[in-house]
Amino acid sequence: MTLAPTLSGGLLIGGDRIAETSGGTHSHIYPATGQPNAVIPLAGAAEIDRAVASAWQAHREWMSLTVDRRRDLLIDLADAVHENLDELARLNVHDYAVPISFAGNAILLERFLRHFAGYVDKPQGTSTPVTGSFDINLIEREPYGVVGVITPWNGSLVVTGSCVAPALAAGNAVVLKPSEVAPFAALRFGELCVEAGLPAGLVNVVPAGAEGGDALVRHSGIRKIHFTGGESTARKVLQSAAVNLTPVVTELGGKSANIVFDDADLDAAAMLSAHQGPLMQSGQSCACASRVLVHESVYDAFLEKFLAVIEASTIGDPLDSLVVFGPVISQAAADRILNVIEQAVSDRSGELLVGGRRLGGELADGYYIQPTVFAGVDNASALAQTETFGPVVSVMKFSDEAEAVRIANDSRYGLNAFVQTNDLSRAHRVARQLEAGSVWVNTFSDISPQGPYGGCKQSGFGRTGGLEGLHEFLQTKNIRVGMR
Ligand code: NAD
Repeated sequence: MTLAPTLSGGLLIGGDRIAETSGGTHSHIYPATGQPNAVIPLAGAAEIDRAVASAWQAHREWMSLTVDRRRDLLIDLADAVHENLDELARLNVHDYAVPISFAGNAILLERFLRHFAGYVDKPQGTSTPVTGSFDINLIEREPYGVVGVITPWNGSLVVTGSCVAPALAAGNAVVLKPSEVAPFAALRFGELCVEAGLPAGLVNVVPAGAEGGDALVRHSGIRKIHFTGGESTARKVLQSAAVNLTPVVTELGGKSANIVFDDADLDAAAMLSAHQGPLMQSGQSCACASRVLVHESVYDAFLEKFLAVIEASTIGDPLDSLVVFGPVISQAAADRILNVIEQAVSDRSGELLVGGRRLGGELADGYYIQPTVFAGVDNASALAQTETFGPVVSVMKFSDEAEAVRIANDSRYGLNAFVQTNDLSRAHRVARQLEAGSVWVNTFSDISPQGPYGGCKQSGFGRTGGLEGLHEFLQTKNIRVGMR
């Protein structure tokens, strides 16, 4: 397998690359080969401090520009991303071995920038009459100033786009903290911000682990945190944010139900269930359809088609454009996922139909786990209730619509749900009853800049995308002008 173009670590603060840091280093391993990729300098409290100060300076410069200029600069940035899509996609492969066939991650970054550039010169506020007077009552929305964006390693470019684009469009500067596990594409994006002409420091990129992340959350110069990651980290972030009462958005994990009704197009449902399930980023996606609920009358027919799609998938080198299924992120993740599988077998949570093992042969050095399907799974089992974050899905049977909705909602998560049906009334009826931030009917989790994305229950709160995503980066001010 060929290794990366140029994998540069080093923070990006105020337009300068900084290799000497106080947060130690991280030895980045390429998951497809198990070989070291690069040594990543990590931000400690000192660099976070420097990044926040530089971002405040850049924020003032940003706000001193006309809205037309800010809009045009964001469009220039989208153009720069467009011209470098291939490089960004390749760097993202080296971030976490996501197959290059999933290069849509980089394209989505560009689309988020173009979408939110369009908001810069549009009205952000309103005015209303007030009771008993002719006063002018303005309701304005203004930027927070400097916001912290903390991203996970998976889908890192999409999350970068969905958070940084609206933050900048709203007038903020951003301290972007990518995971130390996936810093390459984010750092290149930071460079593109400078190359496109944005004020140096408007987007500072500070790869860090828990220590640097915590320093960012606790920093008194950070006015809002947008956190995407796991629920246990989110709890720590919320506790640290309490120090300065910093507002936080949380985009967390899921255990999404995918309901296949008896009137569904079974070929399409099987294709979607496989690619939205164990195959998509090897199941390492917040939107993974990890619980497949199938009507009893089509259960066997569906399973046959579902397993055939999985069987036909190409597994291998993530840089090969035909490959759809790559490794999981690390040795530790592989061990954890294999343990989940072993435990599910020993608990008799369901019947292991395919997969369950680590791949050998020429893929043995990488962290490849076979796409794994359990059938007849008990929804109360740990297998069905815990986010596995690997290529493992549970299939279960239901007998009527009410039972499908009950099982789907019997989860502490509420990020996505999927419905496969050709009955329009049923689609709407069921979608309304599902406890999830997004319901996708007969389609993949095709995240778009226009649609608000986020969860309910323990999948988090707040939204990215669309006007709601923009409003996460604006605070409201009421200005009343007395008329004498
Ligand atoms: P994680 O929670 O381990 O890490 C997320 C980020 O938080 C990383 O940048 C990490 O360095 C940082 N971090 C770790 N400890 C911290 C601390 N104490 N203070 C501040 N920051 C800290 O998650 P991960 O393994 O990187 O990502 C996987 C998780 O993210 C999964 O649960 C997945 O479902 C979720 N996710 C959600 C979405 C969404 O949009 N809802 C998108 C992608 C991933």
